[in-house]
Amino acid sequence: MQATPFDIESLLAAQQADFDIMHMMRSLEELPQRAIILSCRQKREAMQQKVAKIEALKKETAKKRSRMNDEDASLQKKEAGVQAAIEAAGNDYRNAEARTKELDGIFRRRTALAEEMAQLDAELAKIGQLEDQAAAALAEVDAQEAAATESFKQEGGRLKAGIADAERRREERLGAVTAELADAYRTTSKHMGTVVIGRLEEGRCGVCRAGIDPGRQIELRSQAPVTFCPICKRLLIVE
Ligand SMILES: [Zn+2]
Repeated sequence: MQATPFDIESLLAAQQADFDIMHMMRSLEELPQRAIILSCRQKREAMQQKVAKIEALKKETAKKRSRMNDEDASLQKKEAGVQAAIEAAGNDYRNAEARTKELDGIFRRRTALAEEMAQLDAELAKIGQLEDQAAAALAEVDAQEAAATESFKQEGGRLKAGIADAERRREERLGAVTAELADAYRTTSKHMGTVVIGRLEEGRCGVCRAGIDPGRQIELRSQAPVTFCPICKRLLIVE
């Protein structure tokens, strides 16, 4: 193919722009913030499940505590009633004895209830601590994710702008060469990916490293300065 030194320089500059694009795309893909954000989301999900369990336990414990409170309140009322009945019984000894037994029963149950309620209060206090810990951990994960997201936006934005700039550079360079060369570059790029151009160096294609026999080399030189590698089909600069 016909090509001036300026055409060749432009093709190599387009190739450099494609390399830059590839590197920036890779950097964009591999930004560490992606993994951090993903890990934050997983952590949050696990924590939310834990929080749901804590909430369920709290609800159940509070319900138990409230039932005991109700029972104790009703026993307290009953106790007052029995005491009044004992006072009213006066000299009715048998009646007073039965009532006193009843009062003992109420007293025992209320003592047991007081112990259980104190235990439940301690449990509720522990549950409250767990809630606080979970809320603090969630807030930390939120802050981590927000920081990673912000930094991802900044670095990602910078890379995207760099990619757009390199794409513009490549198009500018391809716009400066003959249509035949630009087409050859684009078609090869489509089929071969980022590495489009090689040089014939010491009888080998500079990209695929395949050795080219001397007869074939003479043929390639007749097509100089730009031809195709007979093996990998990339553009080959023959000087
Ligand atoms: Zn080759």
